[in-house]
Amino acid sequence: MLPRHVVDNLQNVLGKESVITDREALLCYSYDATRLERLPDIIVKPVTPDEVVSILNIANHEKIPVIPRGAGTGFAGGSVPVQGGVVLSLQNMDRIIEINKDDMYMVVEPGVVTKAIQKAAEAEGLFYPPDPSSVNICTIGGNISTGAGGARGIKYGTTKDYVMGLDVAIASGEIISIGTRAPRSAAGYDLTRLMVGSEGTMGVITKAILRLIPLPEKTITVTALFSGMNSAASVISLLLKSPVRPSVLEFLDRESIRVVRDLLPLKAREKAEAMLLIELDGPEGTVDKGLPKIEEICKRSGALDFEVASTSSDRERLWTARRSVSPALYKINPTKINEDVVVPRSRLSELIVEIENISLKYKLQIVSFGHAGDGNLHINIMTDEKNHEEFERAKKAVKALFEATLRLNGSISGEHGIGVTKASFLSMEVGKMAIEIMKGIKKAFDPNNILNPGKLWI
Ligand SMILES: Cc1cc2nc3c(=O)[nH]c(=O)nc-3n(C[C@H](O)[C@H](O)[C@H](O)COP(=O)(O)OP(=O)(O)OC[C@H]3O[C@@H](n4cnc5c(N)ncnc54)[C@H](O)[C@@H]3O)c2cc1C
Repeated sequence: MLPRHVVDNLQNVLGKESVITDREALLCYSYDATRLERLPDIIVKPVTPDEVVSILNIANHEKIPVIPRGAGTGFAGGSVPVQGGVVLSLQNMDRIIEINKDDMYMVVEPGVVTKAIQKAAEAEGLFYPPDPSSVNICTIGGNISTGAGGARGIKYGTTKDYVMGLDVAIASGEIISIGTRAPRSAAGYDLTRLMVGSEGTMGVITKAILRLIPLPEKTITVTALFSGMNSAASVISLLLKSPVRPSVLEFLDRESIRVVRDLLPLKAREKAEAMLLIELDGPEGTVDKGLPKIEEICKRSGALDFEVASTSSDRERLWTARRSVSPALYKINPTKINEDVVVPRSRLSELIVEIENISLKYKLQIVSFGHAGDGNLHINIMTDEKNHEEFERAKKAVKALFEATLRLNGSISGEHGIGVTKASFLSMEVGKMAIEIMKGIKKAFDPNNILNPGKLWI
């Protein structure tokens, strides 16, 4: 519990309705998509950057942890208040401030849901490509802070490629404006890039300037079904070398298909061991010419079926299926350890073999799906944490997966970030010296370590 005077100070600044201490509400802000849990002491819901500054001033003076929180959909425990303290929810800072069509950028508050950004851009004939599968619920502040990826990364990159500038409230209670509205800048250290992926440990993002691009003229969505993972992997490798670059190249293994089968075309329900969801976008003529080439590559590699989604509702249904895989996996087991390793694209088939070996060695069911076109797979170790012996094996399997990933020159996180769940593994990838440098950088922004303590490293 926080001292009474701290609660009073927060209420004086924000008003009573924006300072929440009910146990029921605290529970709702105690976890994220990892299902890790720890109750915060208090929740605050600022509406303006000045209110964020006031909260930080109070917390910094009292040396109380502050945990910035978007929608709490993170897969690394980033918004879980592991040391208690103040959960600073950005949900009420959800305005789209400006859309500049001439210079193609959008200025937003951090609590805007990513789908709303995509829709607002599309209404102006513009495109915001980053497309995490949680797009309908996650916030742009969370996306920026985790460096979120998504299905379109293969052609368009990830969130970091679309952040031009930020306003960030730092622990001392100042707001720094970093980045630019111009197409480029070489003015000093790139603090904008540094802030992307910093997981709420260096400041609270209060405003973002996002790069937009022209909306593609046409998009085609297709599914290709395979009798085995290897044929799907060989298509991925051929497509990546071909001059036709898909905008989406998503992979689902047999179990991923099974858990969302009711949403998939009939043929996928019957016989597929692996499925690719492929999109092609761009000028109409280019897309129309590219489609037969993709079909030819898929069929040459033994695709059982190749089907174009002919209506927008067919297309929407496929995307609903793809986006539902992650939550639907709980049909298999009550506990899911969801890792998001990434390897160079040419090493993807080796990663698939490593996963099969780990599954056999540790006698665990492992389900894989994800952004194969980017070498980024979601590896889900399905277990039950109440079965202690099996859960111990699952933890060993995670370490083995990270070791294999690093042997293949990959990274332990392609998009979810480190948070708490991977904090003990970060040094495996970056080494102790790099972590010391990261700690020094954090200290420059947050000398009292109040911002999201207990994350990134242990
Ligand atoms: C079904 C499902 C599918 C998903 N698919 C994808 C996917 O395809 N790609 C992907 O990258 N992720 C995916 N995720 C993970 C998650 O949605 C992303 O990490 C997302 O970016 C988190 O956004 P959020 O608003 O929920 O942030 P939260 O979970 O609330 O927070 C995430 C981190 O950001 C920090 N943070 C939040 N807002 C701010 C702010 N304004 N200032 C400073 N720090 C802040 C928090 O402290 C925390 O460390 C998925 C999750 C689910 C449940």
